[in-house]
Amino acid sequence: MAYLDYNATTPVDDRVLKVMMPLFTEWFGNPSSNHESGRAAAQVVKEARRKVARSVMMGASDVIFTSGATEANNLALAGLQRGLDRPIKILAGATEHKSVLQACASLVCDGSKFRTIPVYPDGIIDIGALESRIDDDTDIVSVMAANSETGVVHPIEKVARIVHDHGSLLHCDATQAIGKVPFDADKIGADMVTLSSHKIYGPKGCGALVANREARRRIAAIIHGGGQEKDMRSGTLNVPAIAGFGEACRIAITDGLADAPRQRRLRDEFEHDLYDMIQNISINGTGAKRLPNTSNVRLCGALADAVMVRIPSVDISTGSACSSNTIEPSHVLVAMGLDRTAADESIRVSVGRNTTRNDIKEAVYEISRATEFVRSIENRARAI
Ligand code: PMP
Repeated sequence: MAYLDYNATTPVDDRVLKVMMPLFTEWFGNPSSNHESGRAAAQVVKEARRKVARSVMMGASDVIFTSGATEANNLALAGLQRGLDRPIKILAGATEHKSVLQACASLVCDGSKFRTIPVYPDGIIDIGALESRIDDDTDIVSVMAANSETGVVHPIEKVARIVHDHGSLLHCDATQAIGKVPFDADKIGADMVTLSSHKIYGPKGCGALVANREARRRIAAIIHGGGQEKDMRSGTLNVPAIAGFGEACRIAITDGLADAPRQRRLRDEFEHDLYDMIQNISINGTGAKRLPNTSNVRLCGALADAVMVRIPSVDISTGSACSSNTIEPSHVLVAMGLDRTAADESIRVSVGRNTTRNDIKEAVYEISRATEFVRSIENRARAI
């Protein structure tokens, strides 16, 4: 079995699990409780907060723990509208995660204005379009650090300069970047950064919005209750998950970044060998700077879903996603100018810490065999 879908989720690192385990049964206190067990739990959260902040070069007091990146993205955007207490003006990259795009779409119902920033055919954000669409009334711009489907890395520093020239906030979803490429929010100039634990070998259901003082002054909570997280996100803190997330962040910026060159070699080998094995394929996002672990390949003339069902021993993703009971082409590939057929013929492969050369060999063999088979069936169907 070859698992090549690390951008979808990752296994929990043994060291992360070790940090978490005693917190379920032994040190299970509520960090809001003012007694020994509570104080011990609060100490654990404090340490995790420090590790999370450090992974993006921000301050511990900037960290707001959430249930994951989806909630963090919603907090950045809906939280700004709530905090400013008026309709807001938002710009977001056309290839952002759905948790950004759908959050923005929902705010339009409240009178906020939302426009997307297109990307070039290689997937990189169109800086010229950003410059022409932004104005001094723009409250927030949301551009991700790296795309989960194509691995395309955006020039965030350039984006930040333009955004700050207009007095807007920059929100950056760095879910896929951490542990794969260096990310320094302070240097970049990102005001709010989204992170997710389960993409970096931590547990699922945990993440953070890391927001600097200026951003925290403008946003307000979207989940109300006991006032945890300085009233920015109520709800009893998930201490084991938070501790695991903190440890995962620590490991991401040490071992994760150290392993990136090896992952790049495996990814490059995958693309090179696939080119050798089958004709008529192309890499989506090639030409752009990409994450070292990600490959998005169009298998011309073969539907990706049909290929995938023929390779049960290799876990990969396709460019399509099921929403509202209809299969929709990837909005990321469509934004890059691919037509529906091209998007439906694309697969997503992402390697990770446990990927071996054998996994790559097996994937190349299975994908090329299945592609030839599906192409022959589709050719025959066309001939009839
Ligand atoms: N943003 C990006 C860029 C992602 O890749 C994902 C996960 N696919 C999310 C947000 C949502 O993350 P979570 O599962 O933590 O809600």
